[in-house]
Amino acid sequence: MFEISERLRRLPPYLFAEIDEMKKRKEEEGVKVIDFGVGDPDIPTPKHIVDAMKKAVEKPENHRYPSYEGLLEFRRAVAEFYERRKGVKLDPEREVISLIGSKEGIAHLPLAFVNDGDYVLVPDPGYPVYYSSTLLADGIPYKVPLKKENGFLPDFESIPDEVAKKAKIMFLNYPNNPTSAVAEKDFIKEAIDFCKDRGIILAHDFAYGEITFDGYRAKSFLEVDGAFEVCIEFNSLSKTFNMTGWRIGFAVGNEEILKGLLKVKTNVDSGVFQAVQEAAIVALTGSYECIEENCRIYQERRDVLVRGLRELGLEVEKPKATFYVWCEVPEGYDSMGFAKKLLEEAGILVTPGLGFGEYGEGFVRFALTRDVKTIEEAIERLKNIEL
Ligand SMILES: *Cc1c(COP(=O)(O)O)cnc(C)c1O
Repeated sequence: MFEISERLRRLPPYLFAEIDEMKKRKEEEGVKVIDFGVGDPDIPTPKHIVDAMKKAVEKPENHRYPSYEGLLEFRRAVAEFYERRKGVKLDPEREVISLIGSKEGIAHLPLAFVNDGDYVLVPDPGYPVYYSSTLLADGIPYKVPLKKENGFLPDFESIPDEVAKKAKIMFLNYPNNPTSAVAEKDFIKEAIDFCKDRGIILAHDFAYGEITFDGYRAKSFLEVDGAFEVCIEFNSLSKTFNMTGWRIGFAVGNEEILKGLLKVKTNVDSGVFQAVQEAAIVALTGSYECIEENCRIYQERRDVLVRGLRELGLEVEKPKATFYVWCEVPEGYDSMGFAKKLLEEAGILVTPGLGFGEYGEGFVRFALTRDVKTIEEAIERLKNIEL
């Protein structure tokens, strides 16, 4: 009786129904499935942040509607975090807003700037929200391929002029989910110039900006000249402080772009629970030892997994950042077929690259959200099957 809108019908189909079904069946058979599918930290939020939340939740003034843009104290804390971690100076009153997780901000940005028929440049493979939020705003997603031979960076030259001319937003995400690629200054400068020349908003998703290894430091786009003219950067406490369930993130950068996004938000949501903001202030302004500890844990897991996969003859790069390992599927398989085989024969769940877009084909993604012992067991299981 109630037909969903054409807009919703345009969204891509959910590809993992079959894999979900297989997982359930395996578990019913008594197999302990090792799930490398979920990009959600298994490590709890650091104690000092949880303690701050407990105190904050007791305060009646925190029980009321928060402000749309976030407490000034919170926005100051974000500015402090950017200054201490990236050397970037932000004006907390004009260049920072709170978000209910960065996904919320990413999903609302096209509504603020895209008109019917405008293009949005989305990386493929990529976080699916760039694509779907474009469709929800009646925009046209133009897939920009991330290819192995280019280090999983887009080739801007390949974007046709007529598309670039009608593009309003370009989404980028480095360190990258799912490929775990990173971007350096020259590339970032190129992206900024490309957008500036064509009047395109550069929307950078920096969710993994603090998940880095071997002393590598990920660059905020705002560190690079000219970024403040065209760039909005999305960031979040989710991955940095293991706070995915708390729903708090923020956007920083160009004031005019932030204003547009905030205008959508004031009509849709009513801000982030102030107690959560107070806990976030403690996280952002406190010691960053917990971030270092987090990175040490993922780095050890990465080493165990990458070594194991290579011993099995699989082709994987050792990521400098993110908690993902992007693994080429062996000859003779596509990503869905390979993922099904691992689940069927070894009880190991990985995400097929195709789920991140057509250019993700040929790869599967392992999330490093399982402990070392579990990763070792997974490698043992894989040794017992024919790859
Ligand atoms: C996890 C993730 C996010 C979203 O995180 P929030 O919890 O909404 O802040 C955004 N982008 C990418 C690429 C992610 O993997």
